[in-house]
Amino acid sequence: MTVGIVGAGQLGRMLALAGYPLGLDFLCLDPARDAPAGRVAPLLQGAFTDQALLKRLARRCSVITFDWENISVDSLRRATRGVGTRICPPLAALATGQDRVAEKRLFERLGIPTTRWQAVSSRRELARALQSVGLPGVLKTRRMGYDGKGQALLRRAQDADAAWASLGHVPLLYEQWVPFDSEVSIIGARSVHGEVAVYPLCGNVHGQGILRLTRAPFGPPRWQRRAAQYLRRVLEHFRYSGVLTIEFFVKDGRLIANELAPRVHNSGHWTIEGACTSQFENHLRAILGLPLGETRALGYAAMVNLIGRMPPAARLLRVPGLHLHDYGKAARPGRKVGHCTLVESSAARRDARARALLKELAVPVRIP
Ligand code: AMP
Repeated sequence: MTVGIVGAGQLGRMLALAGYPLGLDFLCLDPARDAPAGRVAPLLQGAFTDQALLKRLARRCSVITFDWENISVDSLRRATRGVGTRICPPLAALATGQDRVAEKRLFERLGIPTTRWQAVSSRRELARALQSVGLPGVLKTRRMGYDGKGQALLRRAQDADAAWASLGHVPLLYEQWVPFDSEVSIIGARSVHGEVAVYPLCGNVHGQGILRLTRAPFGPPRWQRRAAQYLRRVLEHFRYSGVLTIEFFVKDGRLIANELAPRVHNSGHWTIEGACTSQFENHLRAILGLPLGETRALGYAAMVNLIGRMPPAARLLRVPGLHLHDYGKAARPGRKVGHCTLVESSAARRDARARALLKELAVPVRIP
């Protein structure tokens, strides 16, 4: 059986690597000839909107999934019309994940706390949003934002002009700045038959908007219960199939939803070595209607992203028990080029080793 993946980044690559032991084949589509998944699976090279290529993908695959949400919902829908190929996760979830305003509305509709916010499409609306939402706040592009791109922090009313000048050419959202105590994410899978499996909560540390460190399991049981409850609401709302992620800020023990991702997620990479079944395998099981695998943690995991350029492999592989993932990408500032994971027998040992690893790699973040 062949699974089509729109987007052939590192997530697509890890999906394929998880699927081969299950006897699956893969076919990817990506504009980049040297896309990471293209090294491990056949690649159709072309634009995400290329109807002829999307149709070829649809004809050759039993199911189509995606590893990147900034793709055209309309192109995907048109390409699969009349071919009968399923798209998982559902396009409605993809469309919501692409638009921060749709995300906020969904959270509110499902009773999931989120930040105060307002849609902004003119300089006057920005002034109004500053009044109603307050300062400090963050101005974000509604679409195409990732890794902190397309965002401006407004500390004072005077910052509005510069923020508008840099982002005002596209539809925006202004939201309250949350002085969070920590950031967490919850990842779970729902199969096409409605079976649900949820992973232990992940604690995330970002630097300059990019995820640097994930630790899991993380936080007290009530955070886990609450996050899983919210996740299940979204899964059921969409009659979802595949892996879904919701990111939260935690402030004074309260979970405040920031955004959702209708796909496998960077904060779930630790599941490859740190959980019974990885998020990648469970995504495939979910979209193919197979029984979901156990999501139990095998220990206390820390995942550190490798950003910009790969450190020499020998330097990392000297670290006892370290699992290295090199995505085969060219070096570029701010680019996720790999990650590494440690799994320990206690949270204290895990945190101590994560601190040492961050220091060794000169990652400019501190573990709270
Ligand atoms: P996002 O692209 O919305 O996930 O933002 C990337 C990162 O920027 C988040 O993980 C936070 O670390 C930070 N951030 C974004 N929005 C806010 C906010 N409203 N309050 C505090 N930090 C934020």
